[in-house]
Amino acid sequence: MAVRPIVIFGDPVLREVSEKVEKFDSELKNLVSDLMDTLKEAQGLGLAAVQIGITKRVFIVDLSAVDITEKLRLFVNPEILETTDESEYEEGCLSFPGIYQKITRPAKVKVKAFDIDGNEFELNAEGLAARAILHEYDHLDGKLYIDLMSTMTKTMLKGRLKKLQTAS
Ligand code: ZN
Repeated sequence: MAVRPIVIFGDPVLREVSEKVEKFDSELKNLVSDLMDTLKEAQGLGLAAVQIGITKRVFIVDLSAVDITEKLRLFVNPEILETTDESEYEEGCLSFPGIYQKITRPAKVKVKAFDIDGNEFELNAEGLAARAILHEYDHLDGKLYIDLMSTMTKTMLKGRLKKLQTAS
């Protein structure tokens, strides 16, 4: 469909709690298509609808660039059922261009969601897939990866974050 502009940190929409998808209709299909085009263009690993300004509980994760056994996955109205263990890994976000920091998150996740046709599925993920799912899931609740950074890291990034905020 179309590559949409990605919302950058500083835009208050990123702090909004997204709403559940009620209808699995053509509007949803168009949204997913836009998300896919936008993610591909940005060469990211995941994108939530709110990052293109649509506050719906929808995100995609595509790890195929780093793991050929992976394919693009869509999550509509996801629920995190279980998380286990912990891992620390460098993380970025398309709404924070150029900022990569080590973030501690659960290492494994069990998630339930709906596909494009409204069929429910469950998925167990670990490693980078778990990280990407949890990162995107946070976007749906208006949470950002900077919320998981230490005060020291945030202080260190203050200037760069301010720059993003004023540019947006
Ligand atoms: Zn993000």
